[in-house]
Amino acid sequence: MSPGTALWEPADGGRWAHATFQAVGPLKVSQHRPVQGRVKTLQLKREYRRWYVVVVTEVEAEPLPPTGRAVGVDLGVARFLTTSDGEVVANPRFFDTAQARIAQLQRRTERARLGSGNRKRLRRALAKEWRKVRNQRRDFHHKTARALVNTCGVLALEDLNVHNLTTSASGSVEEPGRNVAQKAGLNRSILDAGWGQFTSILVAKAESAGRRVVRVDPSYTSLDCHACGSRCTRPRQDTVLCPNCGEQDADLNGARNIATRAGLGSGQALVA
Ligand SMILES: [Zn+2]
Repeated sequence: MSPGTALWEPADGGRWAHATFQAVGPLKVSQHRPVQGRVKTLQLKREYRRWYVVVVTEVEAEPLPPTGRAVGVDLGVARFLTTSDGEVVANPRFFDTAQARIAQLQRRTERARLGSGNRKRLRRALAKEWRKVRNQRRDFHHKTARALVNTCGVLALEDLNVHNLTTSASGSVEEPGRNVAQKAGLNRSILDAGWGQFTSILVAKAESAGRRVVRVDPSYTSLDCHACGSRCTRPRQDTVLCPNCGEQDADLNGARNIATRAGLGSGQALVA
């Protein structure tokens, strides 16, 4: 919908804002957080049984004071992220909790009789769990991105568009009752859906803070040795084995390769 056909009146002190769409008429909207900046467009969005008004705004950039820190950032499965200078952000516990609850609800939904009230109730509970984990995940992404942007002048990331292979798989897992997810598959879908979102949140915050973001080709960032360039093997998920340099932490090696590809100097120099 174009901006000319919708109107937004923010909540004035209270909780209720008002949105008017030409095709729909006036709506009362529960406002979750203050709207910052100049409103550009409004979108109506439906998520299962809930409707949302998405308010897109334009915010003036506020550059942060310079910092000499420049890092490559590796997003992973075992850990949420690892930087080339050795900072580690673990996956939050709610990922595991949510995964266990969703897997259990999915099994129960699939066993419930088709068309029964019980099945409907379970599907609703499942949608609610997904909504909850999406909100928690978004909040975690905002906090993690904020901390990185505050401390880093340059951030190098893998260009996820180059190998975005998992979208369809995770999409089908979120559709309740259709697909029995393997435990690992479900876990991946909770994480994968997050990488793209985290990246866009990080890029948006970096841009408005005047930080530089460099995207690099992601091929073999985890398997090439950052020190000598040899192709490594991966005996375990968290370890790579270089024929010359021996065992290394897989995610840290990946982050150092990302830093090198972004022209931030060799990974070795960064930790010297
Ligand atoms: Zn090596």
